[in-house]
Amino acid sequence: ATPTALMVGTGLTARHGILIKNGEVLETVSAVKTVVFDKTGTITVGQPTVTDVVGEEERVLSVASQLEAGSEHPLAQAILDRAKVFGQIKVEEVNGFEVLPGQGVQGQTSAGPAFVGNQRFLDHQQMNPDLAVSFKTLQNQGKTVVLVGLNQEVIGLIAIQDAPKAQSRQAMATLKTRGLETVMLTGDNQAVAEAIAQEVGIDRVIAEVMPAEKAAHIQQLQEVGPVAFVGDGINDAPALATADVGIAMGSGTDVAIESGNIVLVKNDLTDVATAIDLSAKIFKRIK
Ligand code: ADP
Ligand code: MG
Repeated sequence: ATPTALMVGTGLTARHGILIKNGEVLETVSAVKTVVFDKTGTITVGQPTVTDVVGEEERVLSVASQLEAGSEHPLAQAILDRAKVFGQIKVEEVNGFEVLPGQGVQGQTSAGPAFVGNQRFLDHQQMNPDLAVSFKTLQNQGKTVVLVGLNQEVIGLIAIQDAPKAQSRQAMATLKTRGLETVMLTGDNQAVAEAIAQEVGIDRVIAEVMPAEKAAHIQQLQEVGPVAFVGDGINDAPALATADVGIAMGSGTDVAIESGNIVLVKNDLTDVATAIDLSAKIFKRIK
């Protein structure tokens, strides 16, 4: 590769708001077979908001806020924002507070032992049939539903929605015309992931994946051919680093921008296809 051609090439991509950090990746990009996407913050806007509270709302939100005040998860912020509707919900000291990555949070509140999180908590909790029906209905609407438990009983549900980005559907359609398989890799529930995948037209869903397992799924997909992973770095930095081509959203964490080979400065998902097209063009020129 001649340095001049490469410089001209990277100038071309820079004009499109696509940062290619090293020339070696150009060849790999042209060979990519599968493009894997993180869900939260990549396919979706990443600003979850509470849409439904099932159960006695003030009580459910009060218990949930006690625990979520100690969490940095985007879902926690959504719950705390909704709780503000009820004015001062007093946040008290929670004893034995614990974050269980990919599951939720738990601890001893003044009302009793409590948890907020997903179904992985369910085996030792009770959920009445009415709640179970609401749970399914809300999930099938593409909402992330967390259970709020108190004293060994589920007292309510909180449904949270994070809308797909406006460009997600177009981005997937374009990749498909290039013959690429698109995959969503997420820690969220299967039904929610499938609802969003269908909305934006993603081929395949790998859901309910714990943060530590994401890189292993990338390795499995690499058996078919080179894999590109597109993410924002929240819970997915190892996946970005493991993929043959790591594509970081410009809005992502510093870790994402550092470990990605390509950065989409404009945060526009349709730039994934543009990056692939331009890489092929530049690679042909410098070969
Ligand atoms: P993603 O891959 O979409 O970024 P995460 O691995 O961060 O997902 O979380 C997976 C799931 O774990 C969430 O969808 C939620 O059900 C549960 N969860 C994680 N953290 C919390 C929390 N602080 N409160 C409630 N639920 C949580
Ligand atoms: Mg994420």
